[in-house]
Amino acid sequence: QRIGYAIVGLGHLTLNQILPAFGACTKSKVVALVSGSPEKMQKVATQYGIKKESCYSYADYDKLRDNKEVQAIYIVLPNGMHAEYTIRGAQAGKHILCEKPMANTAQECQAMIDACKKADRKLMIAYRIQYEPHNKMVRDMVQKEQFGKVKSIIANNGQNSDNPKHWRFNKALAGGGALPDVGLYCLNTIRFVLGEEPSEVVAYVHSTPDDPRFKEVEEQVNWLMKFPSGVQASCATSYGHHDDKNYKVMADTGWIKMDPAFPYTGLQLETSQAQGTENQIIQHKIADKDHFSTEMDHFSECLLENKVPFTPGEEGLQDQKIIEAIYQSAREGKPVKLPAVSKKDAFR
Ligand code: NAD
Repeated sequence: QRIGYAIVGLGHLTLNQILPAFGACTKSKVVALVSGSPEKMQKVATQYGIKKESCYSYADYDKLRDNKEVQAIYIVLPNGMHAEYTIRGAQAGKHILCEKPMANTAQECQAMIDACKKADRKLMIAYRIQYEPHNKMVRDMVQKEQFGKVKSIIANNGQNSDNPKHWRFNKALAGGGALPDVGLYCLNTIRFVLGEEPSEVVAYVHSTPDDPRFKEVEEQVNWLMKFPSGVQASCATSYGHHDDKNYKVMADTGWIKMDPAFPYTGLQLETSQAQGTENQIIQHKIADKDHFSTEMDHFSECLLENKVPFTPGEEGLQDQKIIEAIYQSAREGKPVKLPAVSKKDAFR
């Protein structure tokens, strides 16, 4: 049995990653499309065998309600549109898988959670890294204290994004610059690996003056997160430097390195462990799994078996609250404390 998905937004991620990923799915199939470009939609529909009557314009989005083949909607629109399309999708009776970042503000995230609860629909944020075997192995190593207690983490996710006319440089559509787009991976993956919530953040933001890309959103953010266990995580994100996507976990008797950590393929996991006076360095060979088919099949399984997704809306809300604290710290030039989140309030 496969869950039928409607994909909303036929941009880069949908065309190059999500639609091809259905080929590797065992519990998910694409049955409907929503797009502002009828010609593009027609081509894609022909390629993926989607019925003409299952192709919708944005104006007709709410008509998905009457399409019985659609159980779930995957929202792959600019960030500033996630809240509206999630809420309308849930009101149309569909379960929602929403791309990251969840939305532009914590208030929007909460409204999305509330709307899905009210409609009794499931909501999952597409945090593909949490379904991917290399990063899952890092989490296992940390949780089992394979190298003792973690003391410190360094994480970096940056890239050189060029086209200043793209929605990613528009505050209303993007919510912010590098931080909510790529910096989010550092923040979310560290929380995932540690299984712990930061208690305090301190941050600096910088944008190159007169660079046309950074009129509305920031270029780069560097921040530090303090965790109740004593772990300190130092993170950097940028839209202005060459691709660099990695993190390193330093523990009592060893370190764990993911470099690269966040691309769609080719992730590399390396560990170093003290062996007497030597260090034993191991390159762990793990087969790549398609990140998107893995996460879509997880959501489908949750719908088929009535389970809570591993990355529900609350997970996206927590990231957004931390993002807001990071911006606040940079604005005010001082550390910002975050409310304590106890284990019993854990999202999963
Ligand atoms: P994109 O610009 O390639 O595609 C966006 C789509 O939205 C386009 O088809 C565009 O036509 C449509 N759209 C509808 N209304 C629009 C409007 N008012 N302005 C601009 N575009 C509009 O972007 P993308 O890279 O595919 O990103 C889409 C979403 O996916 C974003 O939320 C992004 O953060 C997320 N994303 C996630 C990953 C991941 O690895 N999980 C990777 C890339 C993007």
